[in-house]
Parts: sequence; structure tokens; C-alpha cells
Amino acid sequence: MNEFILNTILFVSGTVYGSFLGLCVYRIPRKLPVVFDFSYCDFCEQPLKWNHKLPLVSYLLLGRYSACCGNMLPIQYFLLELAGGFIFLLYFHLYGLTSFFALMVIFTGTLITGFLIDIKYWIIPDTVTFSGMLAALVTSFLISNHRFFDSIIGLVFCGGFLFAAGWFGTKMLGKSQSMGGGDIKFAAMIGAFLGWQLGGIAVFLAAMLGTTWGTGRLILKTNEGHEIQFGPFLAAGALLALIIGKNILHLILI
Ligand SMILES: [Zn+2]
Repeated sequence: MNEFILNTILFVSGTVYGSFLGLCVYRIPRKLPVVFDFSYCDFCEQPLKWNHKLPLVSYLLLGRYSACCGNMLPIQYFLLELAGGFIFLLYFHLYGLTSFFALMVIFTGTLITGFLIDIKYWIIPDTVTFSGMLAALVTSFLISNHRFFDSIIGLVFCGGFLFAAGWFGTKMLGKSQSMGGGDIKFAAMIGAFLGWQLGGIAVFLAAMLGTTWGTGRLILKTNEGHEIQFGPFLAAGALLALIIGKNILHLILI
């Protein structure tokens, strides 16, 4: 197939995927069913016309306000659709149309969804973490036996590490629930996607980022007595591990 046409199809599919992520971020915390259904408006639940369902285009055509009820459409939808398009293109050029492409696309999607929901609602719902774990195990199984076992070990290792860290935190500092259950499951999911080595690096980077952020807030006294969400740091750590994790592994193993 013509390279240009293939890239266009991938980009457009990516924007639909990004649109789906936007739908997940909106509907999962509200306990609304997450099916691949763009047929109604999320604000007023009226049916949408076909030209109001197009990723990117509808947002630009509508001028940021929904046609049915005039609610302002968050820019987040547009950005997620754009990000989806570029994620598809990037991973296609890195991995081709392989099972690994699917693994990475689903992984990045769950990271973005967990990140945005945790920032806004201070939770990482089981819908995100459990479906992520399942997707990671199934795709790893399709890739190879070795990858599948690595995925299981990663799940147990990363989840177990955060559970242990939380347990020690509670014992040492006497804080109740210093590590939320959602964080533990999110870490386990990251381990399942990345395997134990890169997963371990992701958790380590997340801890570094979280500690730096927490210390910074203490020094600047902007901490209003809130605990910090750890989910966004886990997501950032996982993305970093994906990009520079192999280099860090080389450094450690030399
Ligand atoms: Zn509406």
C-alpha cells in the first residue's frame, strides 16, 4: 500500500483511539458504561449527528461548544485525539504493525487514562488497572512465552514492591494508607506491560520524581496538608522507562 495512505489511515485510527481515551477519562470515574459508543453527548445525553462525532474535525467545526446543549468541550478531547494520532504513527514506525505495536498502544492509552483520572479525581479505577493487566498478559502471551512470563513476574514484582513500600510507610510513619490500593494495582499493571526489569526502573523513577516533587512542595510550603497522588508519577516513570529504561539497564549491568 502507498506509504502516505497507510500513514493517513494509521493517524485517523489513532485519533479515534484518542477519542476513546477521552471518553474513558470522562465516563469511568462517573461509573458510566465504557463501550465504544460515541453516539450521544456526554453532557446532555442527546444523540449526536454524524458530523459531530469526527475526531479533531468536529472540535474545530463546532468552535469548542457542543451543538446540542452549548456546553464547552474541554480542549483535553482535542489534545487526546491529536496525541492518539501521533502515538499510532510513532509506534508504527518503531515496531511496524505487530503485536508489540498493539501492546505499546494499549499501554500508553492506559497510562494516559490513569494519569488524567488520578490528577482529577484522586483515584485510579479498577476498570483501568484490571483491564490494563488483562490486555498486557494477553498481548504478551501472543508475542512469546518468554514475554508472557516476564509480564507475570513484572506484575507481581512491581505490585509487590509498592505494597511493601506502603506497608513499611504505614509501620514507620504511622500514616494510614500511605500507598493507595489504586497505586499498587497501577504499578502491577505497569510491571505486566514492561516486564520486571523495565517495570522496576519505572517504579524507581516514579519514586524519584515523587520525592523530588514532594520535597519541592515542602520547601516552597505549597503543601496544603494533602497527600500526593502517586499515580501520575507512576505514569511518568513508566513513560521515561520506555524511552530511556534500556540505557539505565545497560549502566546498571555494566
Ligand atoms: Zn449535549
